[in-house]
Amino acid sequence: MPHSPPMYTHYTDDPVEAAKFISSDKLVVFPTETVYGLGGNALSVAAVESIYEAKRRPSSNPLIVHVGAIADLSRVVKEITPSAHAFMEAFFPGPITLVLPRHPSLPKVVSGGLDTIAIRMPSLPVSLRFLRAVGFPVAAPSANLSGRPSATTWRSAAEDLDGRVSCILRGPNAIVGLESTVVDCTGRSPILLRSGAVSLDALSSVVSDISTDAPNISRSPGLRYHHYAPSARVCIISTPDEAAPGDHAGYIGLAPPDSDAQFKKCVVARDVEEYSHNLFEFFRECDRSGVTMIYCQSLAETGLAYALMDRIKRAAKAAK
Ligand code: AMP
Ligand code: MG
Repeated sequence: MPHSPPMYTHYTDDPVEAAKFISSDKLVVFPTETVYGLGGNALSVAAVESIYEAKRRPSSNPLIVHVGAIADLSRVVKEITPSAHAFMEAFFPGPITLVLPRHPSLPKVVSGGLDTIAIRMPSLPVSLRFLRAVGFPVAAPSANLSGRPSATTWRSAAEDLDGRVSCILRGPNAIVGLESTVVDCTGRSPILLRSGAVSLDALSSVVSDISTDAPNISRSPGLRYHHYAPSARVCIISTPDEAAPGDHAGYIGLAPPDSDAQFKKCVVARDVEEYSHNLFEFFRECDRSGVTMIYCQSLAETGLAYALMDRIKRAAKAAK
């Protein structure tokens, strides 16, 4: 792939100004309630190809198409299946992505060549203002370089993408902090492909026969790739006394470590929401400050903690 020279990145707080860049096939980083997104016109092959390039993402790993209005889906999906209808009614706009049959006129490159397409409507008001000002569907993976932890603040997105995108729309730190729940709604029974803030219990209360069968790679290509990994090693522990404190160690969890245990970086979260909200920024903060071993306290895998532990386990498994 040819190496493009760095470009000038414009910073703004105005979603309407940011929307103008997308309209001319440029790339824009924008905030959502889950993580920051790296957006381009989903209807333009050139814009979509430049997303993969800016992020250094393999083009076989499909993108999520974001919309600000249900009407925008008519150019993206071939049909809205009954389970998708039910989930949209219950959770749109919100931290959930639905996989549906792809509209034949939508460029194949958006979904890595698959005949399905992932769609989402974020709930953060500034995301909706931005998407509605754009007026067409926006393809957007997480705003990080491939393999790095997702960016949950505009500064972290800028750390990876300044000079690689035309505009960064500065918004609040992501409230959830973990990527969206992904559900395949193309078959008779929906399948959970990636856990997130919309929990399995919440999904089951809407469509009772949702399955969690380990999806095969052809169904969820993202599973093929390493995700969410800081440069430091990640070690999962049950209680903080299992960690080896020190100048190159970090700890994040709900239980406070002993007062004499000194960590270079330490976050004691109040609850699983705060733990999830902080996780990726903590990973990045540890990398910035030379931490080489990050200890994460494990939680019982229910509700949001199921998604949190999924991300922590992937980070712990990633090859260093
Ligand atoms: P990201 O945008 O970085 O949060 O990653 C998007 C996730 O959604 C990846 O895990 C993709 O594999 C998954 N995804 C996107 N489109 C599809 C699709 N058409 N079928 C299955 N999974 C998808
Ligand atoms: Mg990602």
